[in-house]
Amino acid sequence: MADIVSGKEVAEALKQKLVDEVDELKSNGIIPGLAIVLVGDRPDSLSYIKGAQKRCSEIGIDCRLVQLPADTSEEEFVSRIRQLNQDRSVHGILVMRPLPATISEDRVKYEISPLKDVDCFNPVNMAKVMSGEEGGFAPCTPSAVMEILDYYGIELTGKRVVIVGRSMVVGRPLSMMMLKRHATVTICHTRTVDLAKETSRAEILVAAAGKARMIKKDMVGSGAVVIDVGINFDENGKMCGDVDFEAVKELAGKITPVPGGVGSVTSTVLAKHVIRACRMLIDQEG
Ligand code: NAD
Repeated sequence: MADIVSGKEVAEALKQKLVDEVDELKSNGIIPGLAIVLVGDRPDSLSYIKGAQKRCSEIGIDCRLVQLPADTSEEEFVSRIRQLNQDRSVHGILVMRPLPATISEDRVKYEISPLKDVDCFNPVNMAKVMSGEEGGFAPCTPSAVMEILDYYGIELTGKRVVIVGRSMVVGRPLSMMMLKRHATVTICHTRTVDLAKETSRAEILVAAAGKARMIKKDMVGSGAVVIDVGINFDENGKMCGDVDFEAVKELAGKITPVPGGVGSVTSTVLAKHVIRACRMLIDQEG
């Protein structure tokens, strides 16, 4: 029977460290600030924002919501981002995606200052993730996966890692982050020919496909570490991951639940990035 990996425990431990860091910054008169930009009112975005605001307030980060109407033009959006880039009380900017069709992500993603780009929207930061260069911001979700592995002392060097999903928000950056840590990484996707053959070889299996309970017991090797990034709702409206948790936990070595796994760590990683952005600004100004 697998050990259940608690994302909440990881998040709490990280939170404590961040609270101490913010206390130190505040004693020097600095309050880290995050601006979350939301165009429209998508319920999933609002729910994520609520969680992030709660987390930031617990840690002592000033988190403000910049909510723009759904019909905001690309020009207006860019002008708002430029204002936030200039705003000295804002250290991190998070743009909620997807943006409405009237705003081209491909055009506006270059506008956000890379120094404030705490969730890796700007390709400058993505390039750093891909090349393994230090000093940028990786996306919060793959960073949360790394936090979990590190907290539980799960070594990556030489390990066979299989990631199901190749999106730019999860699978692809995560594969590069793990490669940097010397794992042997296989990325699977919808055109992978024999998915079960690939996944069952994994010592560390990451599911990030967005398909409810698609990873079945016969697709997982005995003793594998199984990290479930998926957030789905089953036919009864119950939240579940990409992994068939009840069955897979019988043979995995470690497994993250949904909810209570990766998702619980993401907003704390966001806070961590805001604090780092704040420190980077202080260092830059000397
Ligand atoms: P996406 O739809 O952009 O990408 C899914 C990827 O999975 C694609 O590359 C696709 O090729 C692959 N895929 C889909 N079905 C597959 C199948 N049957 N076999 C093999 N590969 C398959 O999704 P995303 O934005 O990367 O998100 C993935 C999941 O992670 C979603 O459930 C999402 O809700 C969740 N998510 C969680 C967090 C968090 O904080 N925990 C954050 C972001 C996304």
